[in-house]
Amino acid sequence: QSEFESLAFVDGLTGLHNRRWLDQAFRRQVERGQRDGKPLAVLMLDIDRFKLFNDTHGHLAGDRALRAVAMTLNENIRPGDLLARFGGEEFALLLPDTALEPALSIAERLRRAVANQTSHHMAGLPAMSISIGEAQLRVGDTFEPLLERADDALYAAKTAGRDCVRWA
Ligand code: C2E
Ligand code: C2E
Repeated sequence: QSEFESLAFVDGLTGLHNRRWLDQAFRRQVERGQRDGKPLAVLMLDIDRFKLFNDTHGHLAGDRALRAVAMTLNENIRPGDLLARFGGEEFALLLPDTALEPALSIAERLRRAVANQTSHHMAGLPAMSISIGEAQLRVGDTFEPLLERADDALYAAKTAGRDCVRWA
């Protein structure tokens, strides 16, 4: 793969994989999960009150916050886990071979890591928090409904007061 091709799959701001990469990589994992009949978890993660943070501290601080959260998430997962920036202040994580219970404890670990570690990456800015929605692959599932359920669960986490984990 040429450097140009691989850069097309990287988010310039955070250095994470981008949406275009996610579409391909997640689809492949979903197909594999269906074939193998193994569990698979998708997490949607969204920074809480990001717009307010941007309006209060400015867009450069907002960029730093996005990078700090991306770095924190990336440091707290395994190399085989698939993390990408989904867009805006939202990230997506696919955990191959992972059932509900471990997926929820991973989500909780990530939530806590962001609450505790991001300010350390941001030199004096207030700590960020994230809300997380989790969904499990179901028989006959495809990429879109799986992500939609994770996104619905994320919405439930927001409605429940943010800085928490919910599942579909
Ligand atoms: P890694 O596999 O890339 O994991 C990065 C970080 O994700 C870990 O940093 C930890 O914060 C989190 N993490 C990953 N898997 C788990 C888990 O099952 N439970 C919990 N509570 N956290 C997890 P950490 O702990 O500093 O480890 C750094 C590296 O050391 C890991 O990188 C891995 O390569 C290795 N490692 C640490 N503990 C173990 C272990 O029990 N078994 C194996 N095979 N490797 C380990
Ligand atoms: P745990 O932290 O309670 O994790 C339980 C199981 O959840 C793990 O079983 C693994 O199947 C899954 N899991 C947890 N974190 C991650 C993750 O970041 N990515 C993925 N893909 N899966 C994850 P496993 O592998 O048998 O590990 C058993 C225990 O060993 C873990 O219990 C933890 O206490 C320790 N451990 C394993 N690897 C690491 C590591 O890299 N860092 C740390 N700190 N602990 C680890």
